[in-house]
Amino acid sequence: MSRKPFIAGNWKMNMTVESGKKLIKELKPLVKKANCDVALCVPAILIPEMVKAAKGSNISIGAQNVHFAEKGAYTGEISADMLKDYGVKYVIIGHSERRQYFGETDETVNKRTLTALNAGLTPIVCVGETLDEREEDLTEEVLDRQLKVGLNGIEDIKKVVIAYEPVWAIGTGKTATDEQAQETIAYIRKKIGELFCPKCAEEVIIQYGGSMNAGNCKGLMAQPDIDGGLIGGASLKLDFATIVNFDK
Ligand code: PEP
Repeated sequence: MSRKPFIAGNWKMNMTVESGKKLIKELKPLVKKANCDVALCVPAILIPEMVKAAKGSNISIGAQNVHFAEKGAYTGEISADMLKDYGVKYVIIGHSERRQYFGETDETVNKRTLTALNAGLTPIVCVGETLDEREEDLTEEVLDRQLKVGLNGIEDIKKVVIAYEPVWAIGTGKTATDEQAQETIAYIRKKIGELFCPKCAEEVIIQYGGSMNAGNCKGLMAQPDIDGGLIGGASLKLDFATIVNFDK
């Protein structure tokens, strides 16, 4: 089963209209021959301008969160329909920074994921263990819980992208080794097979995220179960194009 690689950037709370437009303009020619799907998940307020900037290119624009309610009294939140209105295709859900700073739980990840799917968005669901959890040998237990609860009730798991992001590797410059990332992502794929079906596990796209950069992307992307990357810091510069062109 061949899965099309998918490289997505996560700008987090970075960039402005001007700097974002400039970066996308420069990236467009550099990524146009990519053999993978390409997306940039940008701050919500930048979405309209970045969608315009990426028009006519192979760069899709994604969001970094979505509320689980269709609409209503949720001050400061953004609904799936609002994202769809602007041509957003992907949405990151359950990023470790949302779990750490904004009280995101496996239950809210699940609600947001179901809402995104219902609206026709592709959720990029983030899972991953902290350093303490890895050192205490709890990685599999943590992933089991995050996958079981976070993906509960999903009818077609192939419509979900999973991002394995060991929390200790995010923004720290510490990347999981190729072997660590492969081993854990293979475990996630096996678990998806148990929770859903073995065939869907073979088809689901699973990204690695955590200090992936222009220097280490080739080794990570060469692993049989790693189908792409969720890229933070390196998506804020032209290095993103080198990662997207990992096979060239
Ligand atoms: C991320 O934010 O999802 C991420 C992986 O960040 P970084 O690449 O900067 O570690």
